[in-house]
Amino acid sequence: MSDPDDGKTGELTLHGRSVSRGVTVGTALCLYGAKRQFYRREIASEDLEREIERFTSAVRAAKEQLSEIASADGGEGNQARIFETHILFLEDLSLLRQIETMIHDQRVNAEWAVKTVIEKYVSRYKSLSDRHLQEKYIDLEDVGERILTALGGGGENSYSLDSDTVIIAKELNPSTLIELSRKHPAAVVTESGGWTSHTFILARELELPAVTGIRQLLRSVETGEKIVVDGYGGKVILRPAEETLGRFDSSRKEAEVEAEGIDPDATLETLDGFEITLRANLDITRDFTAAARSGARGIGLYRSEFLFNQFRGYPSEDEQYESYLRIAEEANSHGIRIRTFDLSINRVAVGIDGSEKNPALGLRGIRLSKRYEAEFRTQIRALLRAAADHPISIVLPMISDCEEVKWAKRLVAEEKARLDSDGIGHGDPQIGVMIEVPAAVLSIDRILEEADFVNIGTNDLVQYLLAVDRDNEEVADWFRTVHSSVLKSLRIVLDAARSKGKGALVCGEMAGSPLYVPILLGLGAREFSMNINSLTRVRSLVSKIAVEECEEALKEIEKLPDGDERDDGIRRIFQEKWGGLVDFDSLLSFRRR
Ligand code: PEP
Ligand code: MG
Repeated sequence: MSDPDDGKTGELTLHGRSVSRGVTVGTALCLYGAKRQFYRREIASEDLEREIERFTSAVRAAKEQLSEIASADGGEGNQARIFETHILFLEDLSLLRQIETMIHDQRVNAEWAVKTVIEKYVSRYKSLSDRHLQEKYIDLEDVGERILTALGGGGENSYSLDSDTVIIAKELNPSTLIELSRKHPAAVVTESGGWTSHTFILARELELPAVTGIRQLLRSVETGEKIVVDGYGGKVILRPAEETLGRFDSSRKEAEVEAEGIDPDATLETLDGFEITLRANLDITRDFTAAARSGARGIGLYRSEFLFNQFRGYPSEDEQYESYLRIAEEANSHGIRIRTFDLSINRVAVGIDGSEKNPALGLRGIRLSKRYEAEFRTQIRALLRAAADHPISIVLPMISDCEEVKWAKRLVAEEKARLDSDGIGHGDPQIGVMIEVPAAVLSIDRILEEADFVNIGTNDLVQYLLAVDRDNEEVADWFRTVHSSVLKSLRIVLDAARSKGKGALVCGEMAGSPLYVPILLGLGAREFSMNINSLTRVRSLVSKIAVEECEEALKEIEKLPDGDERDDGIRRIFQEKWGGLVDFDSLLSFRRR
């Protein structure tokens, strides 16, 4: 074991990629674990027995789960054998004792002891020369993860944070960030995660400075150390010297663009008179009044799957009804588009071995709704009831062909009929679809025969067009929002919607970036939905540019080859045209390591 202080004394600057603006000087808190994330906590002497009991119960629960899974295929076959191996680990007294002893002697939480002891075992297995034995480390890691999940017990983690806490993690789950956000952390730094990952969409919504893409971060920083997070420059400074601290000011706020001067009721127009509608994206329930003050015309995208975190699973019909009602009442008369659950099977089948290797291409969105039809019907009923007195529309996620839209519409019609026969009031919401799968772009005409409107989800559209995992930092340089294939796809969808007289709203992160808004305007987009914090900046820019200029700029952009040359060219063209309005050089999504 190396001395933890080895080479970790002086100031150290680590470069990454900024994904949420702002500067913070704070104290690091390192999180571990994949599904349930935790940190090292001290346990008071009087609570040690309870902590050991918590660990023993978790092992018992994990064993029960494994026995159930092992017997599910008749107790035979490979699957059963693997899980029996896992059970043997859970019965290894030497392993269990070491964890208990660590909890007791070092007075630490069970999660920390499990992680430390399992890591020790894993490195022992890895150093074995017998390949067969060596590979057992994978099973052991799996068992460790299962105990950690069982330790969570489906309940909330009891995080307690100081106000200057900077969350450090390899990857941060959106659900962990939601739980942590109630304790008001100061910033987030991770090794991995993309600009459009839900974690960083949330970080921006919560106005938390965030930097990602720092390799070996967890090896370089320790809980309790001072850290500067520079969410403008895309870097962090560990153990900063006094002199360095003087250069950073946590209170520095984004220069607000005329936030005060906005008349929220005024129609937003470009310089050449095109009317533009801005709406807000809402994930976690947050006061919509801030969005309304910035001129938002209702909510363009409400990601209902965030209720899944709040209710720790599928909420009941009444819980959903109440939630939709509350949010619809807040949104102004322009209404709210509620997207049905865009979940993956990994989220729904917690603790069951439903994990998919490739969840983005798996049972997700509408596909999962088809598999879990009863739950989908429950959501539809709640939405129909809430729509009785409120302008609610329904948006279907991950649509790849018009049959899926027809299927959903049939279920909506059936649930309406059931509500009628039960004498329960309901509305008649419009039904739109997310366009985020390339197949949907290419079959847009057919889809538009069924859908009342489209919401263009550029986060997934870019991911699927370019085959780039939006959550994977390793391929972030391939996530090219302005790739010619993306712009062509957007044009196809926008043109088709216009010719059919149907609404097309761009609601991916692209819509909230001043860098991309002129491109979208040039392509013909007139409706945008974005993070509340982007509204003011985008509004201000839109009111100062002309669609005609955007079309001209787009012609120049389309001549540029894909890749860095295109990215740099756009920055140059925009800086020349509108540099006085926005500092395009400093925009997040262009920052490379
Ligand atoms: C998108 O894919 O662009 C989108 C808006 O949906 P989400 O980010 O929730 O996948
Ligand atoms: Mg999407």
